[in-house]
Amino acid sequence: MTKIGIDIGGTTIKAARFSETGELLEETAVPTPARAGRCVIFSAVFSAVDALLRDDLAFLGISSAGNIDPVSGKCVYATANLFDWTGADIKGELERRYHVRVQVDNDAVCALKGELRFYPGARDVTMLTFGTGLGGASLVNGEIVRGKNFDGARWGHVILVPDGLKCNCGKRGCAERYLSATALFKAGQKKILGLADCKQIFDRYLAGEREAREVLARFGGYLNILLENIRTALAPEVIILGGGVAKSQSVFRELICRSDDIAFARLGGLSGVYGAVAE
Ligand SMILES: [Zn+2]
Repeated sequence: MTKIGIDIGGTTIKAARFSETGELLEETAVPTPARAGRCVIFSAVFSAVDALLRDDLAFLGISSAGNIDPVSGKCVYATANLFDWTGADIKGELERRYHVRVQVDNDAVCALKGELRFYPGARDVTMLTFGTGLGGASLVNGEIVRGKNFDGARWGHVILVPDGLKCNCGKRGCAERYLSATALFKAGQKKILGLADCKQIFDRYLAGEREAREVLARFGGYLNILLENIRTALAPEVIILGGGVAKSQSVFRELICRSDDIAFARLGGLSGVYGAVAE
């Protein structure tokens, strides 16, 4: 019997097939039609599952951006990073199509669950995922923080800048508007000519380019505030940094003031699909 994990992010839907013992057998990815509405997003999820589907599928695990009720398997609220995803019956739609057991959870929670295998016995761990948005999830005293609307420990939406940039959650100055890959790229474009992607900012930083150093110094300033707020709120044993941007570990280590409690995602971009099938 095999299981499939799907990670629905704001830019990419990643999918992987696992053996019963959790060994990754194959993986695929399709772009997320994030602006096209719920039906089109479901179609993309189905095509990712279909590409990995074998006769012996026993279980589907879904990791999704947004506030997810893990019992009903519905998306209670999602920002415009996934347009029209609020209210989506993720568990129901997938159960009706594939007739297997389906488990659904928030994407940062899934990334945290995926990484926890490397921290046996840890009871207080926080995960941040730097992607289209800034995902956050926390394990406190051995339990995943949920909150009354499944919106607890959403570190991307703590306010870093009073009256700051408008966030698509409705507030101003959220961490996501300064620390997501999207935000970093926008900040980079204002300073650096001909910038193609976020990775170039890190490459140019390492090459000593002044503009890239300025952009990342600002990013680092905000990041240090967020990390310090997390330490004050929860005092975790470790804060794990994941998502595409956190691949540039050497630069992150230079930017972070205090790194004794900082770790980087060991599963890289696949933390979410591993965590989606973690039971
Ligand atoms: Zn926000």
